[in-house]
Amino acid sequence: RGAIAFKNVQFAYDPARPILKGISFEVPAGKTVAVVGPSGAGKSTLSRLLYRFYDVQEGSITIDGQDVRDVTQKSLRSVIGMVPQDTVLFNDTIAYNIRYGRVTASDAEVEAAAEAAQIADFIRDLPEGFRAMVGERGLKLSGGEKQRVAIARTILKAPPILILDEATSALDTKTEQEIQAALDIVSRNRTTLVIAHRLSTVINADEIIVLKDGVIAERGTHGELIDRG
Ligand code: ADP
Ligand code: ADP
Repeated sequence: RGAIAFKNVQFAYDPARPILKGISFEVPAGKTVAVVGPSGAGKSTLSRLLYRFYDVQEGSITIDGQDVRDVTQKSLRSVIGMVPQDTVLFNDTIAYNIRYGRVTASDAEVEAAAEAAQIADFIRDLPEGFRAMVGERGLKLSGGEKQRVAIARTILKAPPILILDEATSALDTKTEQEIQAALDIVSRNRTTLVIAHRLSTVINADEIIVLKDGVIAERGTHGELIDRG
């Protein structure tokens, strides 16, 4: 379950400047579709429309045939897990941040999620285990560590649908590769919409949509797009 369909989606923040001019594509249940394109092409806007930070102005977005506008924010957010571009953590323990929204999760479940996101060692090395702390400037974690906390949160939430919004863009190459490996595990068997800058980060996607000037300029597998140059 969790099949997504974008149908003739049109959207503009400013009526004088359309961002999406009729976008149609599907993400079959359990598959991964990547959206690439130049900065400002409207890639993140697509994910915001799916998550309903904004609503489409023409066309529709459906999940398993149901229009997202007919779904409550609460149930939409339980079905969709989002690993945002910049993870902002709460000024609290790492465990709290992983458990966020899932207050009933046991310590063992939180630890398993941390393990899968490759932060378990990191957490164990901290003085009071999960009590990574704090002070007035919040959690003193690097960008990559914050991303891993966000990934662990998503693993714990186990949503059928994932949005990965340039989830590794702010990181150095080595960290990016490690995070990519964790994300590949998370997205396996989940319906996944990846927003990416570069083709090289989405080699394994089942389909790649190239967005340009508000329309789909090209689509295909990584191999097909490379062959066409
Ligand atoms: P991408 O993810 O492809 O870089 P975005 O979807 O973030 O592109 O943005 C598409 C266009 O919409 C950009 O020109 C951006 O400046 C503009 N935009 C994004 N968010 C807003 C907003 N909240 N209000 C007005 N314009 C916006
Ligand atoms: P849950 O449904 O599990 O309680 P949320 O829907 O509140 O979770 O948030 C899911 C993810 O999306 C979190 O990683 C959170 O940081 C991120 N997120 C929530 N609201 C926004 C927002 N307005 N802009 C960007 N990211 C957000």
